[in-house]
Amino acid sequence: MIARSQPENEPADWQHAQRDAFTRPTDLLAMLGLPAAAVGLSDAAAAAFAFRVPRPWAARIRRGDPDDPLLRQVLPVAPEGRARAGFVTDPVGDRAAERAPGLLYKYRGRALLLVTGACAIHCRYCFRREFPYGESVGHARLDAALALLAAAPDVDEVILSGGDPLSLRDERLAELVTRLAAIPHLRRLRVHTRVPVTIPTRVTPALVDWLCGTRLSSVMVLHTNHAQEIDDEVAAALAPLRAAGVPLLNQAVLLKGINDDAQTLRELSTRLFEAGVLPYYLHLLDRVRGTTHFAVPLRRARQLGRELRDTLPGYLVPKLVREQAGRPSKTPLVP
Ligand code: SF4
Repeated sequence: MIARSQPENEPADWQHAQRDAFTRPTDLLAMLGLPAAAVGLSDAAAAAFAFRVPRPWAARIRRGDPDDPLLRQVLPVAPEGRARAGFVTDPVGDRAAERAPGLLYKYRGRALLLVTGACAIHCRYCFRREFPYGESVGHARLDAALALLAAAPDVDEVILSGGDPLSLRDERLAELVTRLAAIPHLRRLRVHTRVPVTIPTRVTPALVDWLCGTRLSSVMVLHTNHAQEIDDEVAAALAPLRAAGVPLLNQAVLLKGINDDAQTLRELSTRLFEAGVLPYYLHLLDRVRGTTHFAVPLRRARQLGRELRDTLPGYLVPKLVREQAGRPSKTPLVP
């Protein structure tokens, strides 16, 4: 197990890492030995969507490489200011799907619970980068969401999302899971998170306890876009979850200049599998404002999807999909 036992009132390793993140791009660039002008850093972009990169993840960025695929996921650049038709503030219809503050019904049988607006890392392509979390999340609002869930017998799976649910302390998450488990028709608990990849020490014994100590069947869906994100520390951090029998899946976003070639995607699938994680989804970019420079054309995405299908065993091929507001499921892009 990665985490050490914690004296009372002392923040855990992961909480320290969360607070100690880079919040100024120039500090990260200084560590990487890169001048701001060489990477196209934009102060205006950084002001529009705050910069945040935890140090364990930053340590996997190659020094001196302005095109590093991890750096490009988090670096605020001028093209974020470009407007383009179809790139909007809420590309997947989150607000229209909200039935109570923070409770979203999109697909039959499943409900998405936004438990926090906080994330350990700020990904420039995030489809919720403009989501008004202040109107939807918070402890006080949870009662209404849980009451609505309790009155929805057709829902048997709850997905904890955000923000990143693992930004919250284990005590709060354990309490929430206890309340969810008390709703008789719920059967599965899914956690969508990027934190075990960005701050591996977040996988604490207490996390494994609440995730596995519930009557609900638990599954964790990680978010990783490039094999370089999964170092030995991440793989070791995931081991207790695997040992406890938690299915680990990954969803990635297809991002121009970061993972839009078949070899990079093959390497991602292979590395995930070595770390005990199955590739689940490869998402076409959700067209949120400020992300036009990440968009991969549909034709190219389909070609990549076919190349993966033709060169990898089926269990390593993520489903290439697009999320479209109001649809009853994600739309598959390679038949
Ligand atoms: S971790 Fe997820 S929710 Fe948070 S900024 Fe990145 S993509 Fe968005």
